[in-house]
Amino acid sequence: MRAIRNAFVAALIGFAACSSQASFPHVKVVYEVSDDLACSKLPGDSIKEEWSAELLSREPEFVKLWQIEGPRLVAATETITGKDFPSQEVTARLTLCKLPSESFPDTGRVTINMRYALKSFTPEPVSLRYKVDTLFHEILHIFLFRHPIENSALLKEHAAENERVRDHLHLLALQKAVLLRVNEPDALKEVIAVDSMLPGGYYKRAWELVNATDTEYLKYVGELSK
Ligand SMILES: [Zn+2]
Repeated sequence: MRAIRNAFVAALIGFAACSSQASFPHVKVVYEVSDDLACSKLPGDSIKEEWSAELLSREPEFVKLWQIEGPRLVAATETITGKDFPSQEVTARLTLCKLPSESFPDTGRVTINMRYALKSFTPEPVSLRYKVDTLFHEILHIFLFRHPIENSALLKEHAAENERVRDHLHLLALQKAVLLRVNEPDALKEVIAVDSMLPGGYYKRAWELVNATDTEYLKYVGELSK
């Protein structure tokens, strides 16, 4: 793919002006076409050149949106929980491989699947804003890795749920609290709707539990703030 040389690296540095707590993680968004070459050779996983071209052309828009939203979301997380975000560098690698978005908290690495945000991939793409919220979701895994919840009564209550569901209850409740705090109910609606369509039904189930009543999420947030 000729676009390899166009690999685009954008470094996003936290803005002291946006967060008085000044623990905004340094998030480096990276998309390198060459990283996707290996997966694109797997049967049924080929990546069309037009997808890469569209992602390269829209990456600056994604980065800009994160620059606007990221510091607000992080600052709200700190205010709500009373805990600092880890200030470690996070590398957010965008990918077009057929892989779910994922977080690797011990290494500070996250991957964001961008396929479904592309017009060239699907006639009804999700918004770039949703992908910003996906990035936020993945770095919340790093936040919760650094601030683990101990002796959670709520996790005991839901001991019979699938582990992936249980792993997301506090995270989604916190994400909801943050999006409401920054007054972005439409973004929250899209997150719930799109997450609920993801394969396996784990996120759908987790959102159902977190949204069981209007105030259910606050119970989880309460456990996070202890
Ligand atoms: Zn997750």
